[in-house]
Order: sequence, then structure tokens, then C-alpha cells
Amino acid sequence: MATVQGITVLAEALKAQGIEYAFGIVGIPVIELSMALQQAGIKYIGMRNEQAACYAAQAIGYLTGKPGVCLVVAGPGLLHVTGGMANAQVNCWPLLVIAGASFQDHEGLGAFQEFPQVEASRPYCKYSARPPSIPLIPLHVEKAVRLATYGRPGVSYLDFPGNLLLSNAPMSAIPDQYSHPSPPLIYPDHDAISEAVKLLKSAKRPLVIVGKGSAYARAENPIRRLIDEINLPFIATPMGKGVVPDSSARSVQSARSLALQKADVILLLGARLNWILHFGRPPRFAADVKFIQVDLSAEEMHNSVRSAVAVQSDILPFVDHFLEQLNGQNYQFDNNSDWWKSLKQKCEANQKTVQSFAKNVSTPLNYYAVFHHMQEIIPKDAIIVSEGANTMDIGRSMLLNQYPKHRLDAGTFGTMGVGPGFAIAAAVYCRDYYPGKKVICVEGDSAFGFSGMEIETMVRYNLPIIIVIVNNGGIYGGFDRDTFDAIRSEGDLLKVTPPTALTIETRYENMMQMFGQNGYLVRDIPQLQNALSEALNLTNRPTIINVLISPSSDRKAQEHSWLTVSKL
Ligand code: ADP
Ligand code: MG
Repeated sequence: MATVQGITVLAEALKAQGIEYAFGIVGIPVIELSMALQQAGIKYIGMRNEQAACYAAQAIGYLTGKPGVCLVVAGPGLLHVTGGMANAQVNCWPLLVIAGASFQDHEGLGAFQEFPQVEASRPYCKYSARPPSIPLIPLHVEKAVRLATYGRPGVSYLDFPGNLLLSNAPMSAIPDQYSHPSPPLIYPDHDAISEAVKLLKSAKRPLVIVGKGSAYARAENPIRRLIDEINLPFIATPMGKGVVPDSSARSVQSARSLALQKADVILLLGARLNWILHFGRPPRFAADVKFIQVDLSAEEMHNSVRSAVAVQSDILPFVDHFLEQLNGQNYQFDNNSDWWKSLKQKCEANQKTVQSFAKNVSTPLNYYAVFHHMQEIIPKDAIIVSEGANTMDIGRSMLLNQYPKHRLDAGTFGTMGVGPGFAIAAAVYCRDYYPGKKVICVEGDSAFGFSGMEIETMVRYNLPIIIVIVNNGGIYGGFDRDTFDAIRSEGDLLKVTPPTALTIETRYENMMQMFGQNGYLVRDIPQLQNALSEALNLTNRPTIINVLISPSSDRKAQEHSWLTVSKL
């Protein structure tokens, strides 16, 4: 009787569901599985930390719309990815985590790495299960992939005891694999569109907010047409950047605070009214602002504030129909309106302030000078990965995106340590689909520390990622050498070292010497320009550009700090 091993059934089931990439760290009992994945034609990227592997797998999910697999060992392996699972679930990104589990005939005896993994994963997942037998593996894989991608995307977890992976079942018991079609498009209700059109036309101060749901939906074409043809001001959320080019004349990103505060009708396309959008409430929004909310998740409707019009729909068909009706009624928002005038004025004033910071190239450098000069050199179609506090916040406004899904950052969950994993996924994706496209990973020095060892993964797979570390020697801010030494000379280092401090002028670029290469140390703009132009010529290895900036460089003064809400 012909038999087949569990690992083969699993690998083929994943392949049948269109899984293309797996990221992980192997050990007992999943080493054989990782090899079976390769045999089935799935690309396997071995990483150095499970959390980073999980970040990479979810970034592939966001970029391609198909979940990446994160493959880990039992117990600690699985526990190390829960941060990554939560990050994907909170970001609404598809992800499939697969972990080995202890042998079932050892369960309860204190088996090696025994842990209640299905239960432990459930809070982070849409679906968490252990296939009970080899013949049921294909069904669970189909379901896990379907749940990760249908409806609001999220996380699935599948648990595989070593004995299930390594034992055999009769070939005849394995059902034919079927794959599901891509997620069904949800179409908007006709009346809801008419209502939305009526409300938008009544607006004196309209605003469109483009969220990362719009990027995931690949709705850039109709959204760009909507913004341009109807002449609407828009802002993007951090990862909604690039759906409409940041350089668009209709972007009022530089007048973000004013736009949010004064808008009377806001079209919300694939963004939640959570902390990123200040909950949609005063003082950041007008108390009587009317939201037209478009989301594929019905449960998201009216969250935090009641929407005037809530449309459950995929962004793409909504915007298509919405635009068609507006055009049919010959509607265009007036370019000479007071709203456009005040927005443009505010944009100009704010841009002037930023330009004055950017022009200050005295050393040690400030953030604005660094990002301004990076922006001048890096290709406009590069994928920009970014994390850190000031590094990410200031970089968001200074490093422009022209295309959707070209910015990956700490996201809705504000997770630090995502950068190298996201960059690896982006580089693998570019290698396969957009050869020559650059991936630039802009890291704060603190953020880089979380997953810095993934530099070895980048070297092993010849991934030409440019890591720029904006190094201020601390979390938020650091200290100059004299202050740092003075503080620490006052007593027990564990008692006096400021919790936000990191070692002064750490030479992160020397990590490249582990691989017989040199990175770049940068203290001024000519060195930055030189390092970037050389790095952009690399095609088969990463590099690190360590930019030492002033430990006290800071953001320009903000009217409201990001997390401030006076009264809820
Ligand atoms: P941002 O961080 O950009 O504000 P969020 O992650 O908060 O974005 O919100 C994205 C929203 O987009 C989620 O509520 C999600 O349900 C929704 N969404 C995702 N894909 C689509 C789609 N194809 N069509 C409509 N809405 C979508
Ligand atoms: Mg720092």
C-alpha cells in the first residue's frame, strides 16, 4: 500500500493554496518539514529570531495578498512569535503561523517544549487549530489560508505534533486538494453611495483620509482619479502613503492638523478611527464632523464615533461607483474655495519651517537634514521600511512615497523590531517581482537593536537592503559624551544610567566586518551622499550606513503630540 508522510501532505497542501514563501527557524520537529516545503517549491528563508521571521511572513502577506508562512518549533519558538502574530492581527494583515508541537504520546508527561499552543495562539488569531489526522491536513490548511485572507485579513495558526508530521498515512486516504478563489469583492449598497455623494457635495471643507486598507485593496487607480477629478484635499495614514503620490498637489499632509481639525465631511477609505487618527474626536477633529466610512468589516462601522454614512464595501468598487456618480452630476470641489486657500497657505508655511531645519547641515546633523538629503538621492520607487520614534515620525513626512505598499513601519500596534524582518520580506518580494527595486530600511538605533542580527540573514540570501541607522545614542534622545560620562560617574551604573540612554556613538556599521565587508560611518552630508550612492550600486548584499546625529535633535514643535486627547 502506497503511503505518504505528514510533512509531504502539509507541504503540498500549502503549495496547493498558493503559498509561495515561508520564513522561520527550524529545530525538532520541523527540520524535515522545512525541507519538504522546499521540495514542494515553496521558498524558505531561515531567520535568526522567530519574531523577525513572523514580521517577514506578515509583510509578504501585506505585499502579495497571500499569507506568508512563519514556521517555528514548539514551546519557546511559538511563544516568540506571539508578538508578531498580534502585530499582524492588529494591522489586519494575512499570516499563517505553523509550529511543531511535542509528540502526542509524551503529552502530559512533561514532553520536550510541551505547551498548550492552540489555546495560547487563539487570542492573536482568527483561526487556531491542530489537525487531528494526516488526511485532515489539507482541509485545515485550506481553511487557515481562507480565514487569513477572507473578510478582514488576519492570522491563522496550525499546530503539528511531531508524530503527525513524521508518520505516514495511506495515499488513498488523502483527499483531493481544492483551493478557494481569491476573496469575494464586497459591493456597496446603491443607496449608501447616493447618500455619500449627497453628503460630500454638501461639504464646505471636505477631506479624504487614505488608510492602509486602501493600499491592501490595491485601489490606487480609482482613488487617484477621485482625488484628481473631484479636486479633493487628502491626507494619508502612515502606511496609506503612496496610494496617491505624496508629491500630489492635492496632498495636504503638511497641513495635517488643520485639515483634521476643520474638515466638515471626511471620506475615510480603509482606515480606523483609532489612536493613529486620534479617535476621530475633538480636539483633533471638529465636534460636528461627518464621516463617510468605507470598510469591508461591518464590525468596524461607527467605532469611536458614529459615522454619518457607513458603507460596508471593498474600497475599489466603492470608489468606482462613487466617482461615477459625482462625475455624472458634474461635481468638482471648488479650487477657489476658502478651504483650499487656507490648506495651501498652511502647507506652505509648514514646509518653510521644515526646509529651514533641513538646510541646517551643521554637525552633529539633525533629523531633517539627514532625511532631506536622503530623499534627494534615493530612487522614488524604493520601498521604505521605517521604525524608531523620531526616526519614524520625522521620516514619515520627509521620505516620500509614490506608490502604494511602499512604506512598511511600526504600524497600528507601534511595534519596534519589525524593520529588518519587513525589509527581508520586501527584498525577497522585489527580487522575484520587481528586480532592481531598492529596499531602504531606516532605523532608529534603539529600534535596530531588536532585530539587528537579521543582517546575517540578509547577507546569506544576497539581499541588497540598505540599512540606514539614524543614531542618536538613545530612545527618543540620547546624550553627548561629556554629559553621558558625567551622569555615569555619579554612582552605581545600574542606578544612574538613564533608561533612555544607549552607548554613545556605537559603531553599528562594523557589523558588516563580520562578513568581510565595510559599512559606512557618516557624520556629515557629503559622507551621507557618498555612502548612499555607493550603497545604491550594491546588487547582491546589504550594507549598513550608521549616521551619527545630534543626541538632542528633535521634532519640530507640534500643536498636539501624537497621543494627546484632552477628554474622551
Ligand atoms: P491605517 O493604519 O492606515 O489607519 P487601519 O489598519 O487602521 O489603517 O485600517 C485599515 C482598515 O481597512 C481596516 O478597518 C480593514 O478592515 C479595512 N480594509 C482592509 N482591506 C480592505 C478592502 N479591500 N476594502 C475595504 N476595507 C478594507
Ligand atoms: Mg535613537
